[in-house]
Amino acid sequence: MAADLAVPLDCRPGVECFVQQYPDFDAGPEAVDPFCGTKAYDGHDGTDIRVLSMADVERGVPVLAIGKGRVLRGRDGIADRLLRTEGDRATVAGTQCGNGLVVALSSGLEVQYCHLKQGSIAVRPGDTVEPGDVLGMVGASGDVGFPHVHLTLRRDGAVVDPATGRTPSEGCLLDPAGAEPLWGKAAQDWLKAADDPILAIGLAGAPPSYDRLVEAGPPADLKAGDGATVGWGWFANLVAGDRVHIVITAPDGSILSDTTSEALDRSKAAVMQFSGRKRPPLPGTYRLAVEVLRSGRAVAQRQASVDIDG
Ligand SMILES: [Zn+2]
Repeated sequence: MAADLAVPLDCRPGVECFVQQYPDFDAGPEAVDPFCGTKAYDGHDGTDIRVLSMADVERGVPVLAIGKGRVLRGRDGIADRLLRTEGDRATVAGTQCGNGLVVALSSGLEVQYCHLKQGSIAVRPGDTVEPGDVLGMVGASGDVGFPHVHLTLRRDGAVVDPATGRTPSEGCLLDPAGAEPLWGKAAQDWLKAADDPILAIGLAGAPPSYDRLVEAGPPADLKAGDGATVGWGWFANLVAGDRVHIVITAPDGSILSDTTSEALDRSKAAVMQFSGRKRPPLPGTYRLAVEVLRSGRAVAQRQASVDIDG
């Protein structure tokens, strides 16, 4: 099997686009990702690559053909809407994939794309596509709690995971060196950069709300006149035991706030953390450092700064 699949989205991995879920390799009611980790949920059969918020859907993030092939079928016309409740979920029964496409690749693989943006599908059944061709835009149609594209690869009708080259029935892979990815080198590098536990960080004048983050994206930066100074971080796929360390440094170099969260009691697909002081910002530069601590070691870190006018 040639390992040559191309980059699936036109966006900056680890900045605008992130791997949120992999296929579930557990045959029972539990979930395990292809590398025996927690980045899956029960019954999931594809790879979910997310954008941050509905603001990115509005802006338009292109979904690309990952190989040479022919479009078999497609569906459009389903609204982009984040589902929050079981009642919401019932409204998409029968159309969980939302606006989607199935492309038969010349390598023999079949790829299904789901949750594309309403009205964005740019190809028709029978069209031939080349790697990198724009097929549509990332959306939030069908059964989604966050905007993303879902990619399922099938070989002879059976789901195959492109990160490992394995089918779920073969079981997960503890040693990543044993993977035989279907992605080409550029896509492997892209996906590695996109698989980052820190989605976004920032300094703001109040704690952000999670629901608002996925709808509108990061809140406005901290500014003069705000009543508080808050550092926040938005994370994907944290695991049980993880802690989040948030440090805010004031313009004079003193530490305004330095907190480490309680250890998470279970793994979480998406979580927001914040800390800070009910203290209006002073003129000058505030700096923020955020890190994810796993078994006491920083597995991801990011910095930001904001200038406050005098
Ligand atoms: Zn999915």
